[in-house]
Amino acid sequence: MLTRVKSAVTNIMGGIMAGGTNGDHLGISDLPLKFPYMRPEFLGLSPDEIECSADHIARPILILKETNRLPWSTGYAEVINAGKSALNEDQACCEVVALKRRPAPSTPSHTPTTQRRSSLPNGEGLGLRESTDSEGLVLHYWGLFDGHAGSGAAVAASRMLHHHILQHLQEVQDILRNSSVLPPTCFGEEPSHHHQHHQHLSPGGTHRAVLRAASLRGAAGAPGSPGTPAPRFFTEKKVQHESMVIGAIENAFKDMDAQIEREKAVYNISGGCTALAVVYLLGKLYVANAGDSRAIIVRNGEIIPMSTEFTPESERQRLQFLGFMQPHLLGNEFTYLEFPRRVQRKEVGKRMLYRDFTMNGWAYKTVEDDDLKFPLIYGEGKKARVLATIGVTRGFGDHDLKVHDSNIYIKPFLSCCPEVKVYPLTQFEHGTDDVLILATDGLWDVLSNEDVAEAVTCFLGNCDPDDQNRYTMAAQDLVMRARGVLRDRGWRIANDRLGSGDDISVYIIPLLHGNKQT
Ligand code: MG
Repeated sequence: MLTRVKSAVTNIMGGIMAGGTNGDHLGISDLPLKFPYMRPEFLGLSPDEIECSADHIARPILILKETNRLPWSTGYAEVINAGKSALNEDQACCEVVALKRRPAPSTPSHTPTTQRRSSLPNGEGLGLRESTDSEGLVLHYWGLFDGHAGSGAAVAASRMLHHHILQHLQEVQDILRNSSVLPPTCFGEEPSHHHQHHQHLSPGGTHRAVLRAASLRGAAGAPGSPGTPAPRFFTEKKVQHESMVIGAIENAFKDMDAQIEREKAVYNISGGCTALAVVYLLGKLYVANAGDSRAIIVRNGEIIPMSTEFTPESERQRLQFLGFMQPHLLGNEFTYLEFPRRVQRKEVGKRMLYRDFTMNGWAYKTVEDDDLKFPLIYGEGKKARVLATIGVTRGFGDHDLKVHDSNIYIKPFLSCCPEVKVYPLTQFEHGTDDVLILATDGLWDVLSNEDVAEAVTCFLGNCDPDDQNRYTMAAQDLVMRARGVLRDRGWRIANDRLGSGDDISVYIIPLLHGNKQT
């Protein structure tokens, strides 16, 4: 993902094998690691197995052991890259957690009330049910992180993001659980400040409350005038439960990035990472993506995209607008304009195609001296870069990342905000072969949505429907198809194409099990 700033150490083999450090800083930082390098906790690997998994020559595919079950019989498989970094910079996390009820208002407490319901593996074995009883809402969580320039940020995010999500959901759980509570603007105030709210049942019987929230009066606070009549133009937006969950996830992403920034002062947290997180709560799947990993649902053979990638090309207009508004961020070295190719000095005064942040199409302009600067966005497809440095535009970390040999920071151009898509799981009937597939770009670089859907449908169709291990086997099959086999010193896949040399991580989440939860 990094070119000009590519750290020389990333090509050095050894990593965890060399002296117990995480290998991707090699003394650059004297600070202690916040979290040691690891593979996903649910794989249950021994230190020896972790060491063996980092074999860039054999590239063994790691799968979930049969004894380590994930919720809903989720399948998982991964493989390390072909040598671009010493360690596997992808990370994953899966948790089932209960949001414990808030304490009664009469007993104020600031103690965290989040309770981890099950320590995976075998979370499913506890017979977890989603419920709205006194015990709390149950949340299922799957996270996938793709690190660059070190594994620190990816490891930290895999260990911490779900805690931030829980914390934000905890704050609104009374609203999610039951609409008979204070609207958000009055949270924590006396009952006399209750605002009116509505609730109704959807045709399917699903509890769906609509809040009247964020009123002008409430937002303004107006503590001294609770009885002030509403002005004529008083309006209230209706906010649905679903939006409260989305807001909680969005703010959790921001908190995660802020935590990395804060803790970099005392810990060595190297590099940055993309994040793809799935939350299942109250019958809905929330797929939050910041980066270039991808989620698709395959239902009855049909493909439903559940994320879009954030790359220099897909975010060109946002990035160009920032460069236009805050030209100092470009350090007098870059131009926010895009040209089809580098402009040469001899072309000054001539006409050249260009586009700016207002344009999807192209137009001609007369080339000026300023246009000779390096373009903010340059390159195509997987080679496209922001500030000639980074190929992914959303995620966590990268706070210290600069353009090579300059004082130009990359971070202002990066966003930690996810796009959240919602899938109302319990509103559909699902079969045993209907799945949500999450994978890092290592898979999607060489396999299309159609390739993946066809391979998984075909694989699952040939499995015993009662075999709970079938989703892990299907994930292993996908990783195998993307990595390929080593032939003539190169990794080859079907039709003699080049296999993926990147880290590859794949979750296959069966949707039928989600239906059984309710
Ligand atoms: Mg990758």
